[in-house]
Amino acid sequence: MTRSLELVVKLATPKSPKMNTLNNGAFSNDFLERNEILSELDLSNTKYRLGMLVIKAKYFDNVPNNIVELLEHINKKCLSLGDAASKVASIIVINMLTSTPIPSQYKKIESLYKKFGPKAEFTLKKQVEIKNKLDELYEDSYQREQLKSNLKYEKLKLDQLAREKAKSTTLCPKCQGASCDLCTSGHIRITMDDALQLFRMFKIPLCVDSFSITYWEPILSIFRELRCMEKEAVHQMGLKHKKINNTKANYFLLDS
Ligand SMILES: [Zn+2]
Repeated sequence: MTRSLELVVKLATPKSPKMNTLNNGAFSNDFLERNEILSELDLSNTKYRLGMLVIKAKYFDNVPNNIVELLEHINKKCLSLGDAASKVASIIVINMLTSTPIPSQYKKIESLYKKFGPKAEFTLKKQVEIKNKLDELYEDSYQREQLKSNLKYEKLKLDQLAREKAKSTTLCPKCQGASCDLCTSGHIRITMDDALQLFRMFKIPLCVDSFSITYWEPILSIFRELRCMEKEAVHQMGLKHKKINNTKANYFLLDS
């Protein structure tokens, strides 16, 4: 995330209460208020509107309307695919843009989190320890039931955590975003097969052989177009940020 984008996200997201602009007495005219900076950097009313909308849908998680608005826009672009198919295609595009998993990816991500997730190593080690203890015990030992229930608990705990993760993030559990052999730039990407499975989940009639040309290519093309707009908006935001810094206006980030 660029510095200016980070600033905009912090300014727009109330969960950063410590973020503030300096505004005291004689110098107050030299500083821009929080809202002034935000409105300077927010490109919603410019030709970068769509790119800004992607940024908002991606990072302003406190405003669900952004997702709805972006979804409507994408849906219009997908309409040539047919009514039902365009809805599914729109879901795929928006999830690609916001790095959110689609339901047909849940199982795959869940199993990856069970194997490689940050808690997996610890929990799996614990499970092995319990199993080893169980092996050492006599068949009729009173401790067996206790250990068995501990083992069950450890398994459940990991399952539950992996399931929750799988529904909320495509962040690679192995490298945590740093990029590795499991992922693409730190994320478990939506593949054509994932997309195909989602179309099946929604019972959209389709021909598997022509899925790539009929649906996957248009999905990728709309995704790339919007991703490009997002990048342009981020770039423009950076230029504006620089301009603010070069004028008399300035601000302080009380961000601990
Ligand atoms: Zn990775």
